[in-house]
Amino acid sequence: MRSRRSADVPTLVAHAREGSARAVARLITLVENADPSLREVMAALAPHSGHARIIGLTGSPGVGKSTTTSMLVGALRAEGKRVGVLAVDPTSPFSGGALLGDRIRLVEHSLDREVYMRSMASRGHLGGLSWSTPQALRVLDAAGCDVVIVETVGVGQSEVEVAGLADTTVVLLAPGMGDGIQAAKAGILEVGDVFVVNKADRDGADITVREIRQMISLGDRTESGLWRPPVIKAIAERGEGAGDLMEGLNNHLAWMTEHGVLHQRRIDRASREIEAIALRQVRARMGEVRHGRSLDDLAAEVVAGQQDPYAAADRVIAAL
Ligand code: GDP
Repeated sequence: MRSRRSADVPTLVAHAREGSARAVARLITLVENADPSLREVMAALAPHSGHARIIGLTGSPGVGKSTTTSMLVGALRAEGKRVGVLAVDPTSPFSGGALLGDRIRLVEHSLDREVYMRSMASRGHLGGLSWSTPQALRVLDAAGCDVVIVETVGVGQSEVEVAGLADTTVVLLAPGMGDGIQAAKAGILEVGDVFVVNKADRDGADITVREIRQMISLGDRTESGLWRPPVIKAIAERGEGAGDLMEGLNNHLAWMTEHGVLHQRRIDRASREIEAIALRQVRARMGEVRHGRSLDDLAAEVVAGQQDPYAAADRVIAAL
């Protein structure tokens, strides 16, 4: 069974590179399932990655992420770009993507062959988002996407995690939800490169824009240095604000490129990915050590005072 699937990898990768949506979907499923063939998949994809621009989009449930993503996909398609959309829900490990599948309101792009859409659950993987998402992004990148939008539900720590996955992070807010204060608390003001106050057809949008501007100028944005995040008003439902959003994104890309920030962010991202994979492998080998009883033997020595726990840990690591 496994060898049959492994033999399929080169074909699958070739088909994905030719633009087969089914092949892309199957490769992302391999990532989702932490399939053993991933090592081979990633090796085959590596020479073809590094082209896509990754845009992270985050915000509270209901703020308009799907609607804004759809608007953004429309604007990118108008420029002839091939677009990938990866919706990740770090909060529901057992959804298997189904919940997100329902959530995505991207029907208008569903027949466009140049748009790949996919929801993914991190399924409580060890290292969850940080382990699986970069690999799914690599699939979309190698499949020739010019831009990949990673949409995540912004709850708690996940915004900050998403910022680590993207070249540019867009934080979505809406008026009258106390979102400005929430954002400040969650620490996402530091990670947002572009802010969008969506639902600007509602009362209080200008107040929210002002609040965010004020808080950004108070904040200490050391890494970004000279970058002043724009705060854009949008009515995603009507497609209003798409031009401003595109301009904000392009300005940020130009600024990052000019200041070497883009390269540094990609280096940081790759090093976190390596770390996540390495830690996962170490944990797997630790499991083998445990099953092989050698950990119990060492533990018995520690209990008997023949060995201190640090020396025992060194021996375990050396044996890995
Ligand atoms: P998500 O949960 O963040 O992905 O939010 P959705 O994109 O699913 O949108 C949540 C709800 O807000 C939907 O009913 C949308 O139709 C609505 N919505 C999205 N954009 C706007 C907008 O600009 N104005 C208003 N009034 N409603 C909007």
